[in-house]
Parts: sequence; C-alpha cells; structure tokens
Amino acid sequence: MKDVIVVGAGFAGAVFAREMAEIGKKVLLLEKRSHIGGNMFEEESPAGVRVHKYGPHIFHTNSERVFNYLKRFGEWYKYEHRVLGRIDGKLVPIPFNFKSIDLLFSEREAVELKTVLSKNYAENKRVSLFELMEHEDEKVRVLGRFVLEKVFLNYTAKQWGVSIDKIDRSTINRVPVVAGYDDRYFQDSIQMMPKDGFTKIFERVLDHANIETRLNTNAKAVLRLDLENEKVWFEGRVFTGPVFFSGAIDEFLDYEFGKLPYRSLNLVFEDVEQEWFQPASVVNYPNEEDFTRITEFKHFHTQ
Ligand SMILES: Cc1cc2nc3c(=O)[nH]c(=O)nc-3n(C[C@H](O)[C@H](O)[C@H](O)COP(=O)(O)OP(=O)(O)OC[C@H]3O[C@@H](n4cnc5c(N)ncnc54)[C@H](O)[C@@H]3O)c2cc1C
Repeated sequence: MKDVIVVGAGFAGAVFAREMAEIGKKVLLLEKRSHIGGNMFEEESPAGVRVHKYGPHIFHTNSERVFNYLKRFGEWYKYEHRVLGRIDGKLVPIPFNFKSIDLLFSEREAVELKTVLSKNYAENKRVSLFELMEHEDEKVRVLGRFVLEKVFLNYTAKQWGVSIDKIDRSTINRVPVVAGYDDRYFQDSIQMMPKDGFTKIFERVLDHANIETRLNTNAKAVLRLDLENEKVWFEGRVFTGPVFFSGAIDEFLDYEFGKLPYRSLNLVFEDVEQEWFQPASVVNYPNEEDFTRITEFKHFHTQ
C-alpha cells in the first residue's frame, strides 16, 4: 500500500507528488488522460512543431523561489509574450498601450491622449478600464469606453458566453491600458519557456523512485469517498493516508453538491504550409469573427 494518493498529473499534482516522494513517501499518481502534464501538455504536430494541446501556455512569475524550483528540472529561455488584436482592421498591441493609440487614432488625437495619460500616470503604469472611464478628463473617458467596446466586450461575450452586466467589476478592472510603450502581455520579472518543452519538465518532475504513475486511470473508478463516515476507499480497501485531488471536484462528486462554473474552449488545430502565418504568437479577434484568437506555436519555441 502507498502512503499518499495523488489524483491528476498536471502542475499541482506532479509537484505535490514530487514533494511527497522527496520526503520519503511512496506515492501513487492517478491520471485519467493518456499523458502527464495536465493542461500544460504539449506534443509535436505532424509538421514537427511543438503544440500546446490544451491552449498556449507561457511560464511567468515574480517568485524567484518558484523559478529556482523549476530550474532543477530543465533549461529555460527568456520569452516575453506579446499579443496583437485586430481592431478596426488593424493589428494593434494588447494590452492597449501608446503604440495601439498611435495606430488607431489620428496623430493629433494620439498626441493629446498620450500627453494626458503621461501627466496622470507613471510611465508604463497599467491603468484599469474603470479608472479611465471615470477620469475627470473627457478624452481619457472616451479612450476607456473605446477600449471596453473594441477590446473587451465582444471578446468576453465570445470567450465566456456572458454579457458585460454579468461580469464582475474586478474582472473588467484586470484589463488595463498601459500608460507607455511597454507592449508585453505580462509584467512579471520572470517570463520563460522550457527549452525542451513543458512535457519534458513534467517527465523529470515525476522521475522519482517513490512515484508510481498510472495513466488512463480515472480516480472515480478506484477511489470512493464515504463522506458520512469520513473514510476513503481505494480499490475496495480503506485508505488512511492523504489523498490530494487536483481535478474538477464537482465532477468527482457526481455534482452532488452542485456544479462549479468551469468554462472550456473549443480548440481547432491546422497545419499551414507557409513559413509564418502571423506576426505574433497570439492574435486576438475581439469583434467581427466568431472565434477569439489564433495562436501560431512556432513563435514560442526555439525549434
Ligand atoms: C487555454 C489556457 C491557457 C493558459 N495559459 C496559462 C499560461 O500562459 N500560464 C499559466 O501559468 N497558466 C496558464 N493556464 C492555466 C494552467 O493551465 C493551469 O494553471 C495549470 O494547468 C493548472 O494545473 P493543475 O495541475 O491545477 O490542473 P490541470 O493541468 O488541469 O491538471 C489536472 C489533471 O487532473 C486530471 N484529472 C482530473 N480529474 C481526474 C480524475 N477523476 N482521475 C484522474 N485524473 C483526473 C486531468 O486529466 C489533468 O491531467 C492556462 C489555462 C488554459 C486552459
């Protein structure tokens, strides 16, 4: 019998399994998919390009400690994520910044907007949309409304299937306008990609004599919670050690206590026979199209 059962071989489960293994615990890791890595799993497409199967992932953190931990499991290279959005037929940087203003407004309007933003905010400060829309200067309020309508509204409706009035103010506040030319998507001090890909990182995290990984194993088939008697059953026997569960807990409990508002994305993959398809790894389509974005994975990697 093992000491610890971990469900899910994504980042949470894999790191927890490793931590337990390193303090001498025997770990059984159950994963229902046919691979490790959770949502960060990637594999090569038929054309030889490494593709993130569940959507694009970039590693970013302000924590040296987290990055030092991950460095034990592979080499990383610097990658600063930049996103473009197609607004009024033009590709402009997202988050909206001075370059986006230059591209979408007349020269005179752009100078006025940049001057008033520079007067009010420190260089490259990320200012929330609500702050802009409530600003005392009318030009700034108009800019805030413009970004809300052109960048946020339709994208959010498409991505999350909800209208603006159903979205929490704090969520809208997370969409900033940058008071400067910093066009990076993230501002974290550490922004990296793994040289050999995320899947290899996971393989190394789980490569420990105390970890047994069972793929294609749904915990629902082998683990049972007896909540009334506070017992966990594993393959017909009571299991007294800790169980770490990193999947969707509502699904595991057969929605007995309700459904959590998880959302999912519909991803469509295509190989295109040309050197480059688009000028950035991610291009957002907030408005006219019925999809939200196109990712060209080649931009992420040094392959
Ligand atoms: C499109 C997209 C883009 C993202 N971009 C980024 C990004 O750029 N940077 C970033 O840091 N984060 C990003 N994230 C978030 C990131 O994916 C998650 O933070 C991370 O994958 C969470 O890891 P996890 O281990 O908690 O969950 P997961 O990766 O979901 O792993 C959970 C695992 O548990 C397994 N599982 C579930 N139920 C069971 C069961 N009953 N039995 C057995 N196994 C089970 C699942 O198959 C899965 O492998 C993104 C997410 C998405 C969807």
